[in-house]
Amino acid sequence: MEDFNGLEHIVRDQEPLAPYSWLRTGGIARYFAEPTTENELVSLVSLCKSRDLSVKLLGGGSNILVASEVVDAMVVHLSAAAFTEISVEGNRVTASGGAKLVQLLSTAAREGLSGLESLAGIPGTVAGALKTNAGTHNDDIGQWTRAVKVLTRDGDVLVRDGDQLRFAYRESSLNELVILEGVFELKTIDSIEVTKRTQTQWILKKAQQPRGASGTICMFRDHGGVTAESLIESSGLKGATIGAASLCDACSNYLELKEGGSVDSAVSLLNHVQAEVEAQTGVALVRQVEVW
Ligand SMILES: Cc1cc2nc3c(=O)[nH]c(=O)nc-3n(C[C@H](O)[C@H](O)[C@H](O)COP(=O)(O)OP(=O)(O)OC[C@H]3O[C@@H](n4cnc5c(N)ncnc54)[C@H](O)[C@@H]3O)c2cc1C
Repeated sequence: MEDFNGLEHIVRDQEPLAPYSWLRTGGIARYFAEPTTENELVSLVSLCKSRDLSVKLLGGGSNILVASEVVDAMVVHLSAAAFTEISVEGNRVTASGGAKLVQLLSTAAREGLSGLESLAGIPGTVAGALKTNAGTHNDDIGQWTRAVKVLTRDGDVLVRDGDQLRFAYRESSLNELVILEGVFELKTIDSIEVTKRTQTQWILKKAQQPRGASGTICMFRDHGGVTAESLIESSGLKGATIGAASLCDACSNYLELKEGGSVDSAVSLLNHVQAEVEAQTGVALVRQVEVW
């Protein structure tokens, strides 16, 4: 492997990305790194910049489809303890980007801090949720976010807050390379009440998701108040199948891939649905899932 200036212990080459992706399929990363400290991460980003090597961040992989045979980049996974911490001070929770969203929700419930309950059942990490402004129709993570610590492509660590933070439907203004941590200001209520609300939301969410949701991905954003699911179904695509990939019965906006199925069938089905919905309804659906 290439020389990584003392960072060899955190970098691997030709790493299969299937185990890190929600569909458990896809290509390999040319380089893959799991830094153990913020300093290592900053050094890695600077090194990649000096070598003109692009850097991609991978969270829980629940919104990424790895279509390329080789992702020609340094794929960074923030799995080490330094990137998964959660702390509470009064009604403010600070969560590192690599922490699982479910851990943030359970900390908030334990501390009697209300606001994030509607995110129950959404897979992935805190950083992935901030980047995509994860949420439901009525609520999203952005409305509870007061500050976000980021690392820029130039290697500077900055805090974005106030006017520098903007969230919209499944979008955020967080375009810096790495989301390091988020600060959430919540409402103090009874812990049992927050736990009950979180559990209720989780049950509702699971009932809407296809069963065995670990082999599925959510394909498109809703369009101007109309759900992607209804546009797909009104285009006659309910149950559409290409190879090992098919649309889920429980919700046509979820794509399901049979175990061992190839990523190509998933990409073909995604493209087919997008083209067919546009042909039938005139609506160009925007992908929620990111294709690498
Ligand atoms: C079964 C299922 C149900 C879902 N339900 C919902 C739902 O109800 N609502 C909803 O909003 N979404 C939903 N999603 C989509 C997905 O779960 C969310 O978008 C989630 O927040 C993505 O988090 P992740 O950690 O998996 O991110 P990933 O998929 O790994 O990455 C998503 C994006 O974030 C970037 N990213 C990840 N980590 C970092 C970081 N540290 N710094 C900078 N950028 C980073 C990635 O580069 C990528 O651009 C669902 C997905 C599935 C599979």
